[in-house]
Order: sequence, then C-alpha cells, then structure tokens
Amino acid sequence: MDLFHNQPLYAGVRQMLNAFAKQQMRPIAIQHDREESMPWALIKAAAPLGLSQTAVIDGRKRLTGIDEDPDPTKPKSQARLGVVGSEELAWGCAGIALAIAGSGLAASPVARMGTEEQKSEFRRLLKGDDDKGHVKVAAMALSEPSTGSDISGLKTTAQKDGNHYVLRGSKQWITNGKSAAVYVVWANTDPAAGRAGVRGFIVARETPGLVPGRKETKLGIRASETAQVHFEDCRVHQDMMLGSPPTPEAASGGLSDTKKMLDGTRPAVAAQAVGIARAAYEFLLERIQATSLHGTPMASHQHIMFELAEMNMEIHASRLLAHRAAWLADHHQENVAEASMAKAHAARTAQMVTSRAMVLLGEEALEPGHPVEKWYRDAKIYDIFEGTGQIQRRIISRAMTGQNPT
Ligand SMILES: Cc1cc2nc3c(=O)[nH]c(=O)nc-3n(C[C@H](O)[C@H](O)[C@H](O)COP(=O)(O)OP(=O)(O)OC[C@H]3O[C@@H](n4cnc5c(N)ncnc54)[C@H](O)[C@@H]3O)c2cc1C
Repeated sequence: MDLFHNQPLYAGVRQMLNAFAKQQMRPIAIQHDREESMPWALIKAAAPLGLSQTAVIDGRKRLTGIDEDPDPTKPKSQARLGVVGSEELAWGCAGIALAIAGSGLAASPVARMGTEEQKSEFRRLLKGDDDKGHVKVAAMALSEPSTGSDISGLKTTAQKDGNHYVLRGSKQWITNGKSAAVYVVWANTDPAAGRAGVRGFIVARETPGLVPGRKETKLGIRASETAQVHFEDCRVHQDMMLGSPPTPEAASGGLSDTKKMLDGTRPAVAAQAVGIARAAYEFLLERIQATSLHGTPMASHQHIMFELAEMNMEIHASRLLAHRAAWLADHHQENVAEASMAKAHAARTAQMVTSRAMVLLGEEALEPGHPVEKWYRDAKIYDIFEGTGQIQRRIISRAMTGQNPT
C-alpha cells in the first residue's frame, strides 16, 4: 500500500479543504451547535469546491481538476479522496461536515445501483434552491424504530400495485430527514422472501404519503439535522426502484448491496472521527506549550506529555487504518473487515482523545460552547451510527472465523 496522504492529488485537496474548514467552518461551528441549526449558507459555499450534493454521482473532477480513468479495472481515487477530505472537514466541525456530506449517503446507492435515468432524476430533484432559498439536500432512510443495527429486520414494506409500489412504514434517525428534497428509502417488497426482497426507492419529497416527522435533539453533531420520516400509502413508480426486480433468486439491489454501500462509506466516517480527535489534540498541545503548572512549563511534566504522546500515536494509527481501507476499496479489493477496523478504532480514538483533553484542560473545558466540550460531545456519535462499535467487532470476528459471534 502506498502512503497517499502526501501525494500531490490528495495533498492539494487536503490543503484546500483545511483552508475552508479553518476560515469558514470554525468561526460558525459553536453557533450552529448551540442553535442546532443547519448551516445552509456553508452547504451552498461548499458546492463550488466539488462538494455538491450530487458529487458522489458526478465524479470528482471539480474537486481534483482531473477526470477519473473510466476503465473500471483501473485503481480509483474516490475512497482515498473521501478519507482525506472527511478528516479536514470534521476537523473544522463534524456537525457542519455531516450537513455538507449528508446527501452523499443517499447518492451512494444511486451511484452504485442506479440506471442513467435514475441518476438524472436524482440530479433533477436536487437542482436549484427550495422555497426557503436553501440548497436542496437528500436523505438515506434505512433505520427504523426497531431496526438499527440489524437491517434484515426492516418493517417498512413496498407493496406492488400496477406500475407502482406502495410504501408503508416509519424511518428513524434519518440525516436530513425533515428538509430533504429527495429520499432513498429501503423497504421490503416481499417480506416472505426476507432479505432478497429489500430494495431502495428514490422518492421525491412532494410525493403524497411522504410525511417528515419529529426532528431529534442530539448530544453532538447538532448542525446536522436528524429526523423521523413516515410513509403512509406513499406511491412510487416502479422505475424509481434501485437494482434488479425482486425475485427470490435476484439479490442485486437488496440487502447485500446495502451492506456493501455501508462498507464503502465507513473509511470516510472513520476519517471524520480522526478529524475530531486531531482538533482536540492540537488545541491541547498548543495550550500545554503555552502554560505552566506549579511554576514549571506544562510540557515538562512527564504524565502530561505521555498522555499527549498516546493521543498522537492513536490518531496516526486510526488515520492509517482509514487509509488502508480506502486504498483497498480504490484498488477493487475486499475491505469489509478493514473498513470496520478503521471505523471502530477511530471512534475509540476520538472518544479517548476528547475525554482526556477535557480532563487535562480542567474546568474551562466544562463551559458550554468551549471547543473541546463540543468535540467531546461530537465524538460519541461515531461509536453509534454507521454501525455501532459492537457491530464493527462482529464484522471483524466474522472475517477472522467465517461466522458471526452471537
Ligand atoms: C445522528 C445520527 C444520524 C443517523 N443518520 C442515519 C441516516 O441518515 N440513515 C439511516 O438509515 N440511519 C441513520 N442513523 C441510524 C443509525 O445508523 C443507527 O442508530 C445505528 O445503526 C444503531 O442502531 P440503533 O440505534 O437502532 O441501535 P440498536 O441496533 O438497537 O443497538 C442497541 C445496542 O445493541 C447492540 N447490538 C445490536 N445488535 C447486536 C449484535 N448482533 N451483537 C452485539 N451487539 C448488538 C448495539 O451495538 C448497541 O449497543 C443515524 C443515527 C444517528 C444517531
């Protein structure tokens, strides 16, 4: 594996997004966290940099200035760009980063399984501003009140009726769930067929029967909206179903593809956790270098410097795991266990670094609105969404032994 971090393509993107994070995200991060408001202006400002709501489908030319080699057998750069960019944006503010990148969660299955017509429709639904003048965003609705980790237990159904499917059910904890202009919704077309019956549907917001529900109040990443969405006899044309028609033999477009999609986004989610950890570590290092304890420089106290050394080690290890998982994906190699290792390790690192940073800073870090207090709250979510820590360990165990521990 090459260490791509400093190669010109990735280093250029890293520098550009770090400048964006420093100059535009950091100054407004605390305000959006306090108000629990979406950073609409910044979502718009990010688009010209190559971080538009359809970037996952459109390719990365705007971000990098170069076209990806269309030959599907050649190595790609998408996953690696994802980890490099995600670290910088989350370093700026993980909540705002998720608000900017949230639509990518919905765009990924469309890019992966969608036909050209479905991609065009998805783009059309995200074109222009909404009636409040906000950029249009998308949502990926998979989780349900009783189905988070175990997605094979999906209760939302999609019943065939002529040329349409009728969606019935409720989704929970959906990023952009209240504001989205378009949703990618996962439902079972044939509960008797189990996982083979699950399909994704592209659903426009104005479709009758699609009812956005309660917005959740959260501990962290508060600039990213999370809400319920209900489907009450919501009719969707069959042309908007992703993947092949559901038959017991045809798994394509079903749960196995959904799981692959999550494997694809985990390295970038791991990199977000690295970004939070790095932000807290850098803040702490600067403070320790400038402060004295009992009359001697803080940086001369062994117990303090060993803690910083530990943080630095774990941040580097987490970044390397994320890079490895991304490199494997870009080289068309299996990365299921590696993606889970990256996600689980980085989540632990972000929690360890932010928690220890709180202790070493003392009472100042307990003040609401202190950056380290915010990063401490933001870090927790990385142990929960995109697969909890236990679920990542289950996946790693299965790769080791061929079976899931119960
Ligand atoms: C801020 C936020 C944004 C989100 N955005 C989205 C989104 O855009 N779209 C979407 O579809 N979902 C989204 N989610 C949902 C998220 O993916 C789920 O919360 C997550 O999958 C965990 O599911 P759960 O909360 O139902 O927990 P559960 O699955 O109920 O798990 C509860 C506990 O049991 C453990 N557990 C469960 N099964 C096992 C097992 N087999 N072995 C060992 N332990 C187990 C878990 O690790 C956890 O500790 C979001 C969640 C949050 C918090």
